Amino acid sequence: MTPSEIDSIRAAFPILSQKVHARRPLVYLDNAATSQTPASVVDAIREAYFTSKANVHRGVHCLSQKATADMEAGREAVRDFIGAESSSEIIFTRGTTEALNLVASSYGSLLRQGDTVVLTQMEHHSNIVPWQLLADRKGISIKVVPVLENGSLDMEAYRRLLDEGPALVSVAHISNVLGTVNPIKEMARMARDAGAVFVCDGAQGVAHEKIDVRDLGVDFYAFSAHKMYGPTGIGALYGRADLLDKMPPYQGGGEMIGHVSFEHGTTWADLPYKFEAGTPDFIGASAIKAAIEFMHSTGIERMKEHEDRLLHYTTERMLEAVPDLHIYGTAPGKSSVISFLIPGAHHYDTGILLDQLGIAVRTGHHCAQPLMERFGIEGTVRASFAVYNTFEEIDAFIEALKKVNAMLR
Ligand SMILES: *Cc1c(COP(=O)(O)O)cnc(C)c1O
Repeated sequence: MTPSEIDSIRAAFPILSQKVHARRPLVYLDNAATSQTPASVVDAIREAYFTSKANVHRGVHCLSQKATADMEAGREAVRDFIGAESSSEIIFTRGTTEALNLVASSYGSLLRQGDTVVLTQMEHHSNIVPWQLLADRKGISIKVVPVLENGSLDMEAYRRLLDEGPALVSVAHISNVLGTVNPIKEMARMARDAGAVFVCDGAQGVAHEKIDVRDLGVDFYAFSAHKMYGPTGIGALYGRADLLDKMPPYQGGGEMIGHVSFEHGTTWADLPYKFEAGTPDFIGASAIKAAIEFMHSTGIERMKEHEDRLLHYTTERMLEAVPDLHIYGTAPGKSSVISFLIPGAHHYDTGILLDQLGIAVRTGHHCAQPLMERFGIEGTVRASFAVYNTFEEIDAFIEALKKVNAMLR
């Protein structure tokens, strides 16, 4: 993408043009935590609140019908975006975390005592803790695929764990710390051959890769809209219809029932509504469509290409600026996330000082404490990119990094 194309993309993100700490231009490099939101998405939300806010699926009146149609258009946009066969396989959730809790709780209830769930050492806490809660409830065990020094998964160990016949495997598409892009298609095929259900945490995947759940061969795929230029508080779970059909509801309430009776018991609504109890974030769900349109019109491949160029440029310049810098995650084909430490400097101090210079990065364990433990550290500083980041911003980041390095050592 040319600088002028990036400029015109940036114009749709007013938040990026502000100054912080009085006079520093903001350089937002915390996109793996949340991406910013273009005007088209905010406009869609504003428009919905001003013209068509009414509860969905309940009303006969025209506003309710419009709100329902808009939410279902959001569902259809998600279906198309991830290549699912049917929109009944798209369940709206609050985000990745709730989607993974849904699978662990509902599909998990079908697992039996003594069953095994395979996770990896690089998982986000939201793909660990729900399985630990299930393990406590059901007496299942959790096995973990180790991470190699460069941040890729130990595929030999994965193969050996599959030989033990696990019931389910759940793996991040892209690590939010290391940027490693896991070989999901291959891992899902191996899991299927071993008779295990395959769940993919797509929180980072959706923002950086073209997703096709059928080509990937996953049984479940979870993601959040806020990491792909969409609103907060909404996300989705894709699930294969035959699996969703045999799963019990996750939560009970309105909207998810067929018929409720004290005498004769209660029946469930059809998919996907069986899993959508209560009034959903129907405005968020409809605004996902605008986020997907933003990504399509910018071009997912072109976005990835730009982010990859930023990644390589930044990595090179960082190592020039601080030659003994330690970067965690150097797997081939990694995504645009750089976790690093200045030797001898605390990640928090580095982050605070960068912030003073206008650079927004994330510090800490990034909700991946087992991975921190694997590398024998408490946390890292993480810079992560989105389509609107520029090479000038990287230059500002490098200058700031040099200053911080000089201050801390
Ligand atoms: C952000 C993230 C999550 C959690 O997403 P929420 O939007 O907080 O629910 C899970 N996994 C990965 C890899 C993430 O980056």
